[in-house]
Amino acid sequence: MCGIVGYIGQKKAYPILIKGLKRLEYRGYDSAGVAMIDTKGGLNVYKAKGKVADLEAFCEDKDISGNAGIAHTRWATHGEPNSANAHPHYSASGRLALIHNGIIENYATIKENLVARGIQFKSVTDTEVLVQLIEHIMVSNDLDLLEAVQVALHQVIGAYAIAILDREHPDTIICARQSSPLVVGLGEDGDFYLASDASPIAEYTDKVVYLNDGDIAVMRLGEKLKVVNLDNETQHPKVKQIDVTLGQLEKGGYPFFMLKEIFEQPNCLRDCMRGRINVEGDRITLSAVIDFREKLAGARRIIIVACGTSWHAGLIGKQLFESLCRIPVEVEYASEFRYREPVIFPDDVVIAISQSGETADTLAAIELARQAGAFVFGVCNAIGASIPRQTQTGVYIHVGPEIGVASTKAFTGQVTVLSMLALCLANERRTIPGDVYKEMVAELTRIPEKMEEALKTNEQIERLAPIFTYAKNCLYLGRGYNYPVALEGALKLKEISYIHAEGYPAAEMKHGPIALIDSEMPVFVIATRDKLYEKVISNIQEVRARGGRVTALVTAGDEQIRRLADHVIELPDTLECFQPLIASIPLQLLAYHIAVCKGKDVDRPRNLAKSVTVE
Ligand code: GLU
Repeated sequence: MCGIVGYIGQKKAYPILIKGLKRLEYRGYDSAGVAMIDTKGGLNVYKAKGKVADLEAFCEDKDISGNAGIAHTRWATHGEPNSANAHPHYSASGRLALIHNGIIENYATIKENLVARGIQFKSVTDTEVLVQLIEHIMVSNDLDLLEAVQVALHQVIGAYAIAILDREHPDTIICARQSSPLVVGLGEDGDFYLASDASPIAEYTDKVVYLNDGDIAVMRLGEKLKVVNLDNETQHPKVKQIDVTLGQLEKGGYPFFMLKEIFEQPNCLRDCMRGRINVEGDRITLSAVIDFREKLAGARRIIIVACGTSWHAGLIGKQLFESLCRIPVEVEYASEFRYREPVIFPDDVVIAISQSGETADTLAAIELARQAGAFVFGVCNAIGASIPRQTQTGVYIHVGPEIGVASTKAFTGQVTVLSMLALCLANERRTIPGDVYKEMVAELTRIPEKMEEALKTNEQIERLAPIFTYAKNCLYLGRGYNYPVALEGALKLKEISYIHAEGYPAAEMKHGPIALIDSEMPVFVIATRDKLYEKVISNIQEVRARGGRVTALVTAGDEQIRRLADHVIELPDTLECFQPLIASIPLQLLAYHIAVCKGKDVDRPRNLAKSVTVE
């Protein structure tokens, strides 16, 4: 959620900051702002409601000189999105400017104290409390900025990534993190970059330092990066090589990142399996399973914690682990799990799934599971994010940066990782015969090719999409492994086209939603040939009998459903447990094309953020 960018060095700061904010636009935001120390030593703050382009327009006639600056895209949590609440926030004297990602939970108490001391606030944000507190501590105790930041952060409860500029020290930016991501880039000429993730930094340097919780970094020109904690103890974070290339961040000729990412999936899954499935295609090796064989294969129970699309991947994981490994699985919304006093045993394995690896609720669920002594396994995309650092082990999905807010390739990457893990554990536990294991692994390696086949439905779906543009509600039905696919298909449609949609287990329809069915309500049924095929046909009949319009996803060559449904979309056949990897594709495309027909901003749907770093 929200983006932070900073620069200090020999170059002009403004263009770097603006470009950086644009690279972070995918995270979702509602206002933007920048603070720079100009060539005359003034500290200027410019902010605007809306997009980064609005901020640029606002800055057109302003002084944008200077070589040091911090910039921010805000996703409002406290106070409406307007320019007063946008970051950066000035301190009372105007000496400091601060940007913040996260939530200060005890801001009200701190604010009360400061107001009692005569400090006036210009915004209603929790963030402004930080900058006023820091300056107040600095002035009343005669401390320097770093010392004041340390004292202030000791008083703060909550999540933050912050960056501060000080007019009196134009050669320095100070930043700190607790539960919100922050990356420092080390430039060639001793200049420093700062950002919420590596994408704004990648074009300038490949050397980065991922800050840890409790770290405060001092970026001072002419000096090495200094990292200390709140008690001023020196920290020694590793300098890492950046893992994204610029090419990966561009749209690659597609009109939207989402479409690019849908089409990337076959290659993403090849990347995901590379080095994990041998060249013969009959064996999976996951280092996590080698290192923690006993823990994982001996799990008494698996609890999957996740949010949104990752939770849907978890529902598929549940079926995989239960049927292949015979381990009982519970799938939990992380936000519910963390506050529910769940029963967790030391021999439970908790699998936390999150694309960004920064999802606040999932991180809290991990913490809870760790406290209960469970073994925690992370499934994440962003390298070096908080989840991989806070779990005992895990598997990266390796699908590259996902920019479109509605997740596509991360979902299929997560399902692929869960499939590999389930097969690996099933083999260890001997719960499936060796030849079945081999055949399943081989089939998994064929999935990218079958996805390419499924992507050929794009034109057909593009032609169908206008029919559904005027729908107010849609129903998605599936059973077994295809039930989570129905949920995910409905979620995609909601997210980007703003059409209300529900995913249901097909047989549950008659216990309620069937009352909604009429000729106005499109019904999408995933009816591929599997063990519940005949039953799904009966469900289609039930819809037809009530005048419902059915679009069915079927296995290639299916004539029976062709006679029943209004439209059929043919998909290549595969094992039932891998069907979600194929069947998700046309539903992603369907949501995409409907949203495009409706003229929606597919990559940046309203109200949504890519990386949900607040609870
Ligand atoms: N809580 C802060 C605000 O509402 C920061 C939100 C963000 O992370 O963008 O201003």
